[in-house]
Amino acid sequence: KSFQEMKFPKPIITALKKKGINKPSPIQVQGIPAVLSGRDMIGIAFTGSGKTLVFTLPIIMFSLEQEKRLPFMKGEGPYGLIICPSRELAKQTYEIINFYVKHLENDGYPLLRTALCMGGMAVKEQLDVIKRGVHIMVATPGRLMDMLDKKMINLDVCRYLSIDEADRMIDMGFEEDVRTIFSYFKGQRQTLLFSATMPKKIQNFARSALVKPVTVNV
Ligand code: AMP
Repeated sequence: KSFQEMKFPKPIITALKKKGINKPSPIQVQGIPAVLSGRDMIGIAFTGSGKTLVFTLPIIMFSLEQEKRLPFMKGEGPYGLIICPSRELAKQTYEIINFYVKHLENDGYPLLRTALCMGGMAVKEQLDVIKRGVHIMVATPGRLMDMLDKKMINLDVCRYLSIDEADRMIDMGFEEDVRTIFSYFKGQRQTLLFSATMPKKIQNFARSALVKPVTVNV
C-alpha cells in the first residue's frame, strides 16, 4: 500500500517526499491502516523502522477531522498525547509533527496546534501554549505528571495516546507515572505502544493499558 492509497492529503505526500520518504516501510504498511481504523496497537520496532510516522501521521489526520467537526476552543485539548522517555526524543517527535502540520497549513488546511511539555522548559511558556488550545501534545512523563497534578493540563477530551520506547520508559522507572497519566483520561481512548523489546514486564504493562491490540512486529 502506498501513502496515496492510505488517503493522506497531498501536502503530506509532498512533505514525505521532501524527507526522501516515497514508499511506506513495513511497519508503516501494517501499522498505519490499523491505527487509522481505530485499533489499539503494539509496535515492536527499533528506531530506524519508521515507527514515528505510524503514530504521528494518524494523529494528525484525526486532529484534522476533529477540527473540521468542531473547531477547538481556547484552553481545550490536547486531543492526542504522545509520551516519550527522553527530552531529545520528545523534541524530535514534536518537530516531525510540526513539519507535517506546517505543510498542511500552507496548503489551506486548518492550523493544528501542537505543544511540547517537558522538563528544562519554562512552565509559564508551556502554559501560554496550552491556554490557546492544543490538538497534539508531546510530553515526557515527569513534567506532564506535574502539570496534570497542578491542573494546568487536563486530558478530558484526549482520545488518543501513544507511548514511544516503552521499554526505555519502564527501565527509567516511569511505569507508575505513566499509569497515573492513564488515570487522567476521561473518555474512551485509542492507545498505541511502541517498544524495541517485549519482555514480560512490558507485555503485562501493555495488557493492562490496551484493548484488543493489533501487534505489528518488524
Ligand atoms: P523512526 O524509526 O521513525 O525513528 O525513523 C527513522 C528514520 O527513517 C527517519 O529519519 C525517517 O525520516 C526515516 N523514514 C521513516 N519512514 C521512512 C520510509 N518509509 N522511507 C524512507 N525513510 C523513512
